[in-house]
Amino acid sequence: MGGGQLGRMLSVAAAQLGYRCHIYAPNGNSVAAEVAAEFTCAQDDDIAALTRFAESCDVITFEFENVPVGPLHQIEACAPLHPPIAALDIAQNRIAEKNFARDHGGTTAPFAEVRDRAGLDKAVAETGAPAILKTIRMGYDGKGQSRIQPGDELDQHWDAVGHQPCVAEGFVTFSHEFSVILVRAQDGEIRFWDTPHNMHDDGILAVSVAPAPEAILTQQDAARELAAKMAETMNYVGVLTCEFFATVDGPVFNEMAPRVHNSGHWTIEGAITSQFENHIRAICGLPLGDTGLAAKRVEMHNLIGVQADDWQALLGDGANHLHLYGKGECRPGRKMGHVTKLYF
Ligand code: AMP
Repeated sequence: MGGGQLGRMLSVAAAQLGYRCHIYAPNGNSVAAEVAAEFTCAQDDDIAALTRFAESCDVITFEFENVPVGPLHQIEACAPLHPPIAALDIAQNRIAEKNFARDHGGTTAPFAEVRDRAGLDKAVAETGAPAILKTIRMGYDGKGQSRIQPGDELDQHWDAVGHQPCVAEGFVTFSHEFSVILVRAQDGEIRFWDTPHNMHDDGILAVSVAPAPEAILTQQDAARELAAKMAETMNYVGVLTCEFFATVDGPVFNEMAPRVHNSGHWTIEGAITSQFENHIRAICGLPLGDTGLAAKRVEMHNLIGVQADDWQALLGDGANHLHLYGKGECRPGRKMGHVTKLYF
């Protein structure tokens, strides 16, 4: 379910294992459908279309965590859903997600819920400024967010998030950002990829590098332990990604994605088995592949907006692995492709 680049790369990995993918997505111009065997273009709450789709599948998975969960419960009997709906439920709500991490011993940024304009004053008094205001639902890649500086007039920030229910998060002072990417099989086995060091521009991932520097590696065990515990509680099957800030007090959990993740794109060439292949293996009940590094160092650079126009120059370096997602329209901030380079 979902028709973007993650679905595209999952479909390619599935095809390599001999499977045929059926993409279900609300937009007709799906870059996943272009590389899949079948395509249903319908809304996520179209129960009749969803049921027909589910009945045609042996297993269903997601490339997008904001699929509404109500309709999914109605198709649960048709085919196994991996990862579980409970994981979508938690990941769709920033407050539930932070509480879930805290319940498993994780540390999060200080936060306060904001239901209305008056609540924003109260919340910022609690968290202090600077702070980041984030919509509780449907935010990604820095969308649905507003950064509050000390002394700011708060009306502009309330307007910026569209008067939606929000969470105000205290600003975390961190040295690095990183993600734990794990895969959990149906028998409960968990494997981790090397931890990438992630660098963002304007709230959007720009670069991931593995292996990570020492400052991240010293926090890796604690972060992995938290991610694994959360996966076990959810009886999770598939790839799970948890994003962290490395701070002087240890790893601070930011958010989780119940799916393959942009910070794991380097695994296509940079690991023995990619996140996409292992996700397919997990949901299909196959043994997991080796997650080890395939080079001494791997770098993945996102191609955002017009950066993708440099594709010819990028191909000029024969060691670059270029991925273009085939999106019809180039917009600022839109993920158009990525390039991976291995260092031996
Ligand atoms: P998110 O959508 O939550 O992943 O936020 C996008 C990016 O904004 C993160 O990768 C960080 O670079 C930055 N960011 C988000 N939340 C915080 C925070 N509480 N403190 C500092 N930086 C943050």
